[in-house]
Amino acid sequence: MSDLHSLTVAQILEGLQTGAFSSRELTQAYLARIQAHNPRLNAYLYVDVDGALTAAQAADERRSQAGDPARLPPLLGLPIAVKDVLAVAGMPATCGSRILEGFVPSYNATAVQRLLDAGVVILGKTNTDEFAMGSSTENSAYDITRNPWDEQRVPGGSSGGSAAAVAAGLAPVALGTDTGGSVRQPAAFCGLSGLKTSYGRVSRYGLIAYGSSLDTIGVLARSAQDAALVLNIMAGYDPRDATTLEQAAPDIHLNGNATLKGLRIGVPGEYFIDGLQAEVEQAVRAAIAQLETLGAEVRPVSLPHTEYALPVYYIIAPAEASANLARFDGVRYGLRAEQDNLIEMFKHSRGQGFGPEVKRRIMIGTYALSAGYYDAYYGQAQKVRTLIRDDFARAFEQVDLIAAPATPSSAFPIGAHAEDPIQMYLEDVFTLPANLAGVPGLCIPAGFDSQGLPLGLQLLGPHFSEERLLAAAHAYQQVSDHHTRRPVLA
Ligand code: GLN
Repeated sequence: MSDLHSLTVAQILEGLQTGAFSSRELTQAYLARIQAHNPRLNAYLYVDVDGALTAAQAADERRSQAGDPARLPPLLGLPIAVKDVLAVAGMPATCGSRILEGFVPSYNATAVQRLLDAGVVILGKTNTDEFAMGSSTENSAYDITRNPWDEQRVPGGSSGGSAAAVAAGLAPVALGTDTGGSVRQPAAFCGLSGLKTSYGRVSRYGLIAYGSSLDTIGVLARSAQDAALVLNIMAGYDPRDATTLEQAAPDIHLNGNATLKGLRIGVPGEYFIDGLQAEVEQAVRAAIAQLETLGAEVRPVSLPHTEYALPVYYIIAPAEASANLARFDGVRYGLRAEQDNLIEMFKHSRGQGFGPEVKRRIMIGTYALSAGYYDAYYGQAQKVRTLIRDDFARAFEQVDLIAAPATPSSAFPIGAHAEDPIQMYLEDVFTLPANLAGVPGLCIPAGFDSQGLPLGLQLLGPHFSEERLLAAAHAYQQVSDHHTRRPVLA
């Protein structure tokens, strides 16, 4: 088969089961494509050629020796890519930062371990903005990632490497993380289905922390169905993450039944603001109309504190980051700048190891937490965060889901926001509120703009409503084909 790289996870699992191809053939096809295109796209920072082939071979042997195929691990032989903020034992974990240069974790993140137990083959680690701080993957210390739809544009971020890999056919599916939009925004920019999970759904053990009260692990996939297949495996209670809940393990089966009869969808006026690209609004409204023809009841809804989400996030996330990143001091792992005394060693290691955006956030966060300013900034931001969470709670008394744009525009050109951090922060206006509230979100392809760039629709739901989100998206994907389009690579 020449087009193995364009199959969905669902198609791959079927093909492996029927013997249409082996995991080794599949893995080889991906590795060949990575070799051909990754030097340009830079979606992967690390590719585990030998490990992937060995794992694929072992998966094939296990399958051929199994008596009862129903007893095989559910994702046996499926290749995946992992964002480089997640620990995979034996592979470098850089978080896109010089400060972690040379760090190789000896353990797997829980989400990764569960996927490995389910039989996946890990192709490698994908590029990210440094410590997941950014919206374009331009903040990586290891070079930018290019958008496969237009290589002069960014893939979004911070999970831009994962998004570019899946869009370009360098992986069928990839893990990302979403602290303020980092799964949904790159999904929108790369024409993918990107699931941000509820806070507490997927263990954060082994996710190198950015903003601990906001960080979530998610999936970048070619369809809602593929995202569900991965979510089912990686979610659930984990004694190593006290914020995961007992009821977190889902068992989602999306069937072909494409009716949304009785589903109430709210459209928040606050998300249709000045500066929203007209084509984004058109695509989002057209997608909502299509959900309506599938049986959904669409009505307006209000999230009145939406405008405060951005300033609140950019206090809370840097505050948490400044504390989380204090551990990187050159002592135990990563970069060390040798100096005559300890304090100088700390200073130089951190000075050389962190890039400019990370330093900016550490300074903002330290300031917001400092005595005398704590109440005015951090304390105040926490109060407004509660108002934002209450907005969602009230809205979800009236509707089952919320539909909105995911991003203000399609993918922007490389360098467009390089000189202006505020412009970069504004990329996240529509995605940050869900993280502040802890609710799940899903971005799905809803069309293309006049330049041929993908446009996304964002669906938001109450806590632990992933199944409802994915089922609505699946119904939409039964009657639309935006998600099946692939970029033509140079
Ligand atoms: N762009 C946002 C930030 O820089 C969100 C990033 C993320 O979700 N990791 O903080």
